[in-house]
Amino acid sequence: MRATEYLIPTLREIPAEAEVVSHRLLMKAGFIRKAASGIYTLLPLGHRVLLKITRIIREEMDCQGGQEILLPIIQPAELWLESGRWEVYGPELFRLKDRHGRDFCLGPTHEEIITELVRGDVRSYKQLPQLLYQIQNKYRDERRPRFGLLRGREFVMKDLYSFDRDEDGLETSYQKMIVAYNRVFSRCGVEFRLVEADSGPIGGNVSHEFMVLAGSGEALILYCPNGDCGYAANVEKAESRVVEPENKDESRALELVKTPDKRTVEDVTAFLGVGPERIVKTLLYETERGLYAALIRGDRELNEVKLQNLIGAVHLEMAGPETVERVTGAPVGFTGPVGLEGVDLVVDEEVAFMVNCITGANRADAHYQYVNPGRDFPIERVADVRLVREGDPCPHCNRPLVAARGIEVGQVFKLGTKYSEAMGLTYLDEQGQERLVVMGCYGIGVTRTMAAAVEQNHDEQGIIWPAALAPFTVVVVPVNVRDEIQAALAETAYATLREGGLDVLLDDRAERPGVKFKDADLVGYPLRVTVGKTAGDGLVELRVRRTGETRLVSVGELVESVRAFL
Ligand code: ATP
Ligand code: MG
Repeated sequence: MRATEYLIPTLREIPAEAEVVSHRLLMKAGFIRKAASGIYTLLPLGHRVLLKITRIIREEMDCQGGQEILLPIIQPAELWLESGRWEVYGPELFRLKDRHGRDFCLGPTHEEIITELVRGDVRSYKQLPQLLYQIQNKYRDERRPRFGLLRGREFVMKDLYSFDRDEDGLETSYQKMIVAYNRVFSRCGVEFRLVEADSGPIGGNVSHEFMVLAGSGEALILYCPNGDCGYAANVEKAESRVVEPENKDESRALELVKTPDKRTVEDVTAFLGVGPERIVKTLLYETERGLYAALIRGDRELNEVKLQNLIGAVHLEMAGPETVERVTGAPVGFTGPVGLEGVDLVVDEEVAFMVNCITGANRADAHYQYVNPGRDFPIERVADVRLVREGDPCPHCNRPLVAARGIEVGQVFKLGTKYSEAMGLTYLDEQGQERLVVMGCYGIGVTRTMAAAVEQNHDEQGIIWPAALAPFTVVVVPVNVRDEIQAALAETAYATLREGGLDVLLDDRAERPGVKFKDADLVGYPLRVTVGKTAGDGLVELRVRRTGETRLVSVGELVESVRAFL
């Protein structure tokens, strides 16, 4: 390609709304343009990167026996009603009607439609397993579309679905995908980590995420620094070890204390002169299954995802002041478990071990001290509902966990029989018995991976593409296109590299060299070939974008030198 015939509209100004590096650089370097909030066009350079990523993905999916298909984006509501997700998905689902008033949605994910497909065409155990995948646009009306390609409302995803006879088969398919994903992200040249994850609204019970490590990542992960242990999890899922204290205080008699207008943990600890770990917070939640009170230590945060999973609730919301008053008889800030009625108590594991703690007294301006779990309130439902933080002991080996930020680029789920049960996807086994098909699903955010690669690979000047993803591996820059010798040698270098099977762009624009060098650094080609003063001797300068290293090489050696770099 020649720059004069190629659309690379680099910008001088960075769009103000772009908060993260990948958004800024992909806009500035001419890879993407915004059409609407969370909806982007991929310009020629952006599209080339997309093709590089999808090619890697296709190779790795096919290598594991994946078969590529293309499912419809527009999906009939009936299928979503059958699975129960028409309601559950909520406002994130783009819904539309056809001219007859029938309901449809734009696919945010494709479990329903593929289950329907397989239920029509797979009958016998002989047809299992199947691994079917597609690479396609997905639609999610995200509450906060932001960060450019990282969180769009329209984005490209690879989604694969596995269909097996039984759990063992699913385990095999799941492991194949873990292998494939490890290979995909390694080949993409990003630094990533595999972590345990919550399965969220997709369903199922076992799930892992692939996280690209980046400070701007929206996900928080906790991992064990002990390499032999290897525990790593999304904070939504992360667990920590609870140790029952050896020397517990003698339990004392319950006592009411006046705490005028002391509503928060900080207020109460300051007023009573105790540490927050002596307090038990009582958090009231409304769900479609009734009211729940979650008890958590005063220095802790509640993990709402864990609570929601435990209860099995679709909707979970903190109770408003009216509900709090109605249920506890006291204003917000004085809720406690002692004598609390009409509410299901969920007691965090750490709270169950506490002695002589402080809780709200369910009356205005008062708390109880010397509250003892089991004695003063029931501890029938003890569970892990706390948010794990850095320094908490690893659930496997007890070492202090380390926190890091990540961008979720892929997630794999064991769905089990969730969809086959809801939608009647069965097969006949060797004995002619009807059985439920066991499913898994596996997604990669393709456009998000592109942005994540930029988050990890850039400097002040611009993007530094990992070679496998670069839109062009090499840019050839004649310093002065009006100099005949330089122009001719640049043409030769360009032709030689192309013949050598390399992706190369010739920057044949009649711009000042400074402008061309700047653009080359901004766009982030891994290698630059500068054709300048030494052209008369048939020599060009090969420069590595990441390190700034330069070397004079003859045009004849060029292909070999580039190959060596790759
Ligand atoms: P998130 O938690 O970031 O909203 P998710 O868990 O809802 O993502 P999945 O349903 O697991 O997403 O989708 C599979 C993959 O698709 C994700 O791992 C991610 O890489 C990508 N993805 C999901 N939502 C978006 C989005 N709004 N924009 C770009 N990529 C996305
Ligand atoms: Mg996910």
